[in-house]
Order: sequence, then structure tokens, then C-alpha cells
Amino acid sequence: MSVNQLPSKKPKMSEENVKHLPSAIPLPLPEAELADVVEKSKDWALMHGAAMRSKTTFSEDSLNFAPFVLVPTAFPRKQFLKSIEIQPILNELMHKVAHSREFLTECLQETIKVDDFTGRLFNIYETVFNEGVTQRACLGLLRSDYMVHSAATDNIKQVEINTIASSFGGIATHISEYNRYVLQELGHSDKLKNLPDNNALEGLCSGMIEAWKLYGNSNAVVLFIIEDVTYNICDQRFHEFKIREMDPQVKVIRRNLTEIGDRATLGAKKELIIDGFEVAVIYFRAGYEPGHYHSEKEWDARLLMERSLAIKSPTIHYHLAGTKKVQQVLARPGVLENFLSDPSQVERVRNIFTGLYSLDFDEVGEQAIQMAIDDPERFVLKPQREGGGNNVYGLEVREAIKRMKDSEERTAWILMERIHPPLSRGYMVRPGGSKVPEMVDMVSELGIFGVVLGDGESIWYNKQVGHMLRTKVSTADEGGVAAGLGALDSPYLID
Ligand code: ADP
Ligand code: MG
Repeated sequence: MSVNQLPSKKPKMSEENVKHLPSAIPLPLPEAELADVVEKSKDWALMHGAAMRSKTTFSEDSLNFAPFVLVPTAFPRKQFLKSIEIQPILNELMHKVAHSREFLTECLQETIKVDDFTGRLFNIYETVFNEGVTQRACLGLLRSDYMVHSAATDNIKQVEINTIASSFGGIATHISEYNRYVLQELGHSDKLKNLPDNNALEGLCSGMIEAWKLYGNSNAVVLFIIEDVTYNICDQRFHEFKIREMDPQVKVIRRNLTEIGDRATLGAKKELIIDGFEVAVIYFRAGYEPGHYHSEKEWDARLLMERSLAIKSPTIHYHLAGTKKVQQVLARPGVLENFLSDPSQVERVRNIFTGLYSLDFDEVGEQAIQMAIDDPERFVLKPQREGGGNNVYGLEVREAIKRMKDSEERTAWILMERIHPPLSRGYMVRPGGSKVPEMVDMVSELGIFGVVLGDGESIWYNKQVGHMLRTKVSTADEGGVAAGLGALDSPYLID
């Protein structure tokens, strides 16, 4: 919806809002069969690395299985295919957005005045741009997230697009296999045809290997930038091990930002050197939230890497292109046309956007403020942050808007129409949970992975590579898997 068509009324609850999606197999399961399959499936998950390190009983020496949905959740086939098919267009769009200095600068000019974190990222961008681009290419490992919008049954709407640390490609690939296993185990082999293949892990790793080859030094390594403590270790290690499997020449090393700050240097040609290794490719699994930067040292590390010859996923401009502010500006009428020349592509991308509004000090911003005060539950209020747990929902939207409506702070936020996905019913299996879980109402969010490699002039690698499904209890605002309300899942396609 464009800003010229600001809606004034709350949509009526339609039939679809209360109807459940059909389940893949008849549920509930008899209690004895349920207990048996839950026990087996937990072991399947642990033994195939659908696992994480525990936040409550952390040890580097042990894993818990990651929360998962016992039986794959229904997802409309047509919408699944739509999300797959649009990914190369989104890859191209994000690549072009990232390379438009004028656009990024204009989009973020108000935000960076009040949002210190985005401001610091932007300063790095300005610095490296003014010094001249060093790396030969940019590698985008993207994940575009969607929910089916049940007010318009025939549609998916984009929640956001991630350009940094797009996670779960590794575990999701294994969860897809798990769902094949569990359907067979429950006597439904005939239904396997409705589980789409998922090669996300291989696809993402191919992107990194392509970039590594482009760098052109067979002794150079791939560097994963990691958090100080890694909970989502299996997902990251799957990438590392897959890279070695696909190209035995490629070594992966892992360092946090502090270690880069302490020990990395630039060589004569701006090669990034750490602990004796030259770095060909940097894959960021950290660096997307302020807490990852403890002091100036970590910021210096980020700048050093940006200055280097290493091919980064993401480069700083890709990181900025993934901000929620950019997503909101792209949804303004006429903006997509600057990046996509084919009108039918523009139309397809516009179709996945839901209402996105700026809170700038102008007429449109004032209208958005009023809408949010009048009907807060229709919206989600989002700051320029990644990683979950930062958005504001429900009646708190009104409170937050009232608190900041006269302050510059509001320009760092965007207002987004809340998407209402259809409900499904199923079992969630969690570490420490019951041996026989209860059926719960759930909603799902689909993520599609894309890989893009190119420079300011052209794109030479552009692929959709796989998917992940995250499902949460329907009453939760957010479904972070590690946070406890979300669970890994995979789509069971229905017509
Ligand atoms: P983050 O960068 O923190 O992942 P997201 O924009 O993905 O931020 O929001 C986090 C979660 O909040 C999403 O995974 C989704 O569950 C929920 N969410 C975000 N935007 C919407 C929306 N417009 N409608 C419904 N739920 C949303
Ligand atoms: Mg998200």
C-alpha cells in the first residue's frame, strides 16, 4: 500500500482469520504413538545437528536439540513458489540498492542523526567510499522473510530482508530431511512429494566458495566473524564443514570482533591478515547489533575489514541496504522503478510489501503517528536493529509513539502494518518439555535464501538457494528459536 492510500479503518476479522490450515496428517496422534515419535525425533534432531548450545546450562561440550515442530506445517504451494521465484529479483534489487550511494545517503540521513549504531555504520561506509573501494566484489547471502497474510489469502507479505548473518540455512536443510523421516515414521510416505527439496546449506556455501575463487589466492582462508559466545553453533559449523566438503582446499577460521581488533593487520595490497592467515572472504555472523561492539576496538576492527581486499558478506553498504528504514523507503510509490527496469518485476515486488510508513517530521509521518495512536494493534513499530526482540507490538505501540512523538528519536523507527498469518495446529517439541506435548495454535514465517555476487557494474551470480520455516505459538509477537517461543519447521505444501 502506498503512503497516498493510508488506510483509516481496522480490517474486519474475516472467516480466514479464525480458520486453521489443514494439517499434513490427521492430528491429534494417539498418546502412545506421540510419546514414541517424540522420543525418536528428539534423538534424530540431536544426531543430525538440529541443535544449539543451551543458554541456561551453557557448555561448549554439549548440545540441546533446537526446538522443532513435530510434523511439517502446511504452507500454500502457490505462495511458496511465488517467494522462490521472486528471490533473484530481490537479490538484484538489494545489490543495486547497496550500490546506490545517493539512495542510501538520502534514505538514512535522518536516521543516522538519532540512531547512533546506524550512524557509526554509515561513517564506516563514508570513510571507505571516500578512500575508494578495495574489494573486487560483494557477496550477498540474503534471507527474505514472509508471512502469509490471511486477510488476503492469496498473498505473502515480506516481513523483512536480512543482508547480514542470515542464519539457519544449515539447520533448516537438516530439518527438511527430518520432516521426510517423521512422515515416513508415522506411515505417510505418500506425502513426501509435498515436501520441497531444500539445498540452502549447499547454496550458501557455493556463494562463499565462488567468492573465495574470485579472490584468487588458494592459500587464503574464509573468516567467520562470530559472537563472543556462540549458541547457534551447529548452524555455523554446518557451513564450515560443508565448505570443506565442497572444496577441500578451503579453510575456515572463526574470530570475534575483539580478536580482529587485537591482531588483524592490512598488508601492502590491503590484504587482511590475522594470525598468519590471509583472508579471502569474510562471513559475518556477528556485528549486526550494538552489543557486539564493546569498545572502539571492535569498531576499528569493522573499519579495518571494510578497508581490506577481502570479499565481505556483507560489505558495509549491503549491511546498510538491509536496514528497516531502507525497506520502508523502497515501499514508497515510484522508488522501486529506480532499480528495476521491468515494470512486471516492479509490480511483483510491490505486491509482497505491506504498509510501511516513515515517522519523519512531515505530513506523511504525522498521519502515521495518528494512525498508530488511533489503532496501535494494527501495527508493528520497528527500530533499526536486527536479531529479534527489538520491535514494539500491541498497545505498547501507542505508548511508545506518544512518548517519542515530539522527539527526533521517532525518525529512527518505522511503522509497519501487522501481518496476520493463518493459524495451524500442531506439536512443538522443546528441550525440557513434556514427553507428550499438547497441540497448540501456531503461525509460521518462511525465509527464502538468496546468493548474489557482483560489483558496482554488474552481477555475475544470482540464485535462489533454499528455504527455512520458523513457527511460533500464535500468541507470541516474535518467534525467536533460541528465545523459546519459536521452533524450526519446514513447509508441507498444500493446494
Ligand atoms: P529482526 O531483525 O529483529 O528479525 P523482524 O522485522 O524480522 O526483525 O521482526 C522480528 C519478528 O517480529 C518477525 O520474525 C515476526 O515474527 C515479527 N514481525 C515483524 N514484523 C511483523 C509484521 N509486520 N507483522 C507480523 N509480525 C511481524
Ligand atoms: Mg527477522
